[in-house]
Amino acid sequence: QPQALIIGAGIAGIATAIRLAVKGYHVQVFEANSYPGGKLSEFEQQGYRFDAGPSLFTMPQYVDELFKLAGKNPKDYFTYQKLDVVCNYFYPDGSRLKAYADPDKFAAEIKLQTGETAEAINQYNRNSARIYDITNHVFLEQSLHRLQTYLSSKTLKSILRLFQIDAFRTMNAANQSFFKDKRLVQFYDRYATYNGSNPYQAPATLNVIPHLEQHFGAYFPKGGMYSIISSLVKLAEESGVQFHYNFPIDEIVLAGKKASGIKVNDDFIGADVVVSNMDVWFTYRKLLNKHPQLFPEKILNQERSSSALIFYWGIKKQFDQLDLHNIFFSADYEAEFNAIWKQKSIHQDPTVYLNISSKHQQTDAPAGHENWFTMINVPANTGQNWDELIKEARQNIIKKLSAQLGENITPLIESESILDPRSIESRTSSYQGSLYGTSSNSQFAAFLRHANRSSKIKNLYFCGGSVHPGGGIPLALLSGRIVSEWVD
Ligand code: FAD
Repeated sequence: QPQALIIGAGIAGIATAIRLAVKGYHVQVFEANSYPGGKLSEFEQQGYRFDAGPSLFTMPQYVDELFKLAGKNPKDYFTYQKLDVVCNYFYPDGSRLKAYADPDKFAAEIKLQTGETAEAINQYNRNSARIYDITNHVFLEQSLHRLQTYLSSKTLKSILRLFQIDAFRTMNAANQSFFKDKRLVQFYDRYATYNGSNPYQAPATLNVIPHLEQHFGAYFPKGGMYSIISSLVKLAEESGVQFHYNFPIDEIVLAGKKASGIKVNDDFIGADVVVSNMDVWFTYRKLLNKHPQLFPEKILNQERSSSALIFYWGIKKQFDQLDLHNIFFSADYEAEFNAIWKQKSIHQDPTVYLNISSKHQQTDAPAGHENWFTMINVPANTGQNWDELIKEARQNIIKKLSAQLGENITPLIESESILDPRSIESRTSSYQGSLYGTSSNSQFAAFLRHANRSSKIKNLYFCGGSVHPGGGIPLALLSGRIVSEWVD
């Protein structure tokens, strides 16, 4: 039986393991941490349960697909519920917007709150859908680095339409051309943060993202986000995959220009195929450090996506005006992104994302309480004085939420832990603590991501958010699909 070794049990590593096992490989996954999931992990904090990383679940079909591939019924392992209200938006001027999943209801809400017409919204949605139709097949579902991709008529048709993907103006410029109301522009600009980019720089092609959320929907997995990982690990184990935890790999061993296995504590484990789910930057710099002549320096030096600062708060009260996903916008969005991307710092009035899973799963907090995952976007870690920045941001967030909720929240915080770019980097070996690998701030970003296979080292493959097609759960899952298509 051919042997496959996978470095890292992030969601992409697990998905790739399942796919290769189904293909007939004997698969072993080596994970540095004591648990699977990488950025997608969970923890307990004085009676509260928290999903540590991702909180928004879109494109569940990519998870279901793995169960079907293994001949199982997804519902026997993993269920989820479609959200009627995707997110609640709070603006500094006191106005609010409820993003209903139902398009007509949402258009009516937008009309009511902002005066923008249903026709303007429809036009916007058609634009997003068109970008999706053109880009999905070429940029997301396939390798950009494989000749075969360009030989299908579907791909060629998409390529001929590439001029229609709005790549030559920024998201913000495009959004301003669609809407007069500044709040709606801010609403649509925010989608740039779904892959850690800056709407004032990123190409308007990223206006495809609202389509993914609004057309395909947003979901809440039963048991919380971590049930995605636990159900996939169960499936992987049933498919014969072996997981080794507390097993940090030190080296990818080459025989000439071919990956022949991995090394841990001087023990060699041989394989036919090696897949790295470790961030591509660290894969080269740490695991292949004996071979600097093979480093794709240009790719490794690309700008990283933004990172996050999260306060996990146990709150001893329930707030009826809040829902699962809540956004408290900043008054000056451009200044906020300038602080992140130009000053590499944190704006004094950041947009705050508040996720409360206990709204859907009561057992995530004690009765009458709520588990607040309170997050702001921050720059990638380039050695800032984080302790200072965190202290200041904490005060600013509390001030903002207290003002918006009409109550001082400080005395309600009964437990707290913090995740910042440094801890994201050290816990998951993600370069600079970036959430989504490289940023999408340039129109060429899609072409510059590292491929899912090494062009210089035979039998070495890459999956996960730092390589093609990019970060976020859906794309990380697609990277696993592409790897399995490459592997013979
Ligand atoms: P990772 O999760 O980065 O896992 C890599 C694994 O490899 C880790 O477990 C690590 O320990 C292991 N590893 C590294 N080096 C070694 C080694 N040498 N040996 C052995 N093991 C090693 N996405 C969404 O879709 N929706 C969201 O709402 C969302 N929000 C986010 C919020 C936060 C705070 C964060 C951090 C991320 C968020 N994301 C979100 C992004 C999403 O979490 C990631 O894109 C995705 O989980 C990345 O998965 P991955 O497979 O690339 O690897």
